[in-house]
Amino acid sequence: MDVHVADHPLIAHKLTYLRDKRTDSPTFRRLAEELMTLLAYEATREVRVEPFEIETPVAPTTGIKLSNPKPLIVPILRAGLGMLEGMVRLLPSAEVGFLGMQRNEETLEPVTYANRLPDDLTGRQVFVLDPMLATGGSMADAIRYLIDRGADDIAAVCLLAAPEGVAHLESALSDTGVPVKLVTGTIDERLNEKGYIVPGLGDAGDRLYGTV
Ligand code: URA
Repeated sequence: MDVHVADHPLIAHKLTYLRDKRTDSPTFRRLAEELMTLLAYEATREVRVEPFEIETPVAPTTGIKLSNPKPLIVPILRAGLGMLEGMVRLLPSAEVGFLGMQRNEETLEPVTYANRLPDDLTGRQVFVLDPMLATGGSMADAIRYLIDRGADDIAAVCLLAAPEGVAHLESALSDTGVPVKLVTGTIDERLNEKGYIVPGLGDAGDRLYGTV
């Protein structure tokens, strides 16, 4: 697995305000979107393109355009929704599918409760969005699910990752033979006994949408 930690002062600056417990939900949502757009720039570095002939007012030339099938963006509900706008801003012609995954708070195991995806993902390039790569269980399950449906190139995009999550993803997907890239704003210190990233930013879903 290719792990890319986005090393940019603007990302570190926005992450600092995102982590701060005094940051309110509207600001948190805006920052999550802005961060996603910056991370999307890295995540789409190898997006599939093909040559495209055009004419400028001066001369014909060959440019590029996104290949078909278009990439698929899959936010993992619910916190991944907070990253969706930031991603489609950069890739407006991409399709969007949804996967609902939740952690069992006792076992910390991921449970799939919703799926709105094309059945056949053969040859699709997929971007999976989840702000927090904690244990890595939901992300590994989501990626395996997409690979089983034919996806052949996957980028997982997170705002924060725990070293435990990165290691789990690496080992859980080592046998798939499908290229997986992880793009994250940073890798934090560790997970605590409740499965929260330390120092992290708390519960991303709650901070985006309020506690429900
Ligand atoms: N999910 C979150 O929202 N926060 C964490 O720290 C870990 C998982």
